Amino acid sequence: MAKIMVVDDSKIMRKILTGTLTDAGHEVIKDAANGKDALDALETMEIKPDLITLDITMPVMDGIEALKNIREKYPDVKVVMVSAAGQKSKVLEALKAGALDFLQKPFEKEDVVAVIGKFVNNA
Ligand SMILES: [Mg+2]
Repeated sequence: MAKIMVVDDSKIMRKILTGTLTDAGHEVIKDAANGKDALDALETMEIKPDLITLDITMPVMDGIEALKNIREKYPDVKVVMVSAAGQKSKVLEALKAGALDFLQKPFEKEDVVAVIGKFVNNA
């Protein structure tokens, strides 16, 4: 079981990811609607997540900028991006900046569990 933070500006997407990860035995310890909220939350969290799922397109602070901040401040925290179709260059930029992998929307629950499971211990 891993401690996971879900970051996405879509409430429905946060709900889907949280449900899927929880069903797979992980614990979603925090969610946030944009990169800034995620960074603010990380600062105050006593126990940091093992892994963060990070949407690319978000208002205020997008996933790419958030990723760069997270990599710099919390290098032990793993990051998997959540992208939409047509975001290949953003995905490549994220992988270069230290994201471990990406999930492209729309995804199947099994894909989420498999991709996350590559980087954390399954329950
Ligand atoms: Mg979005």
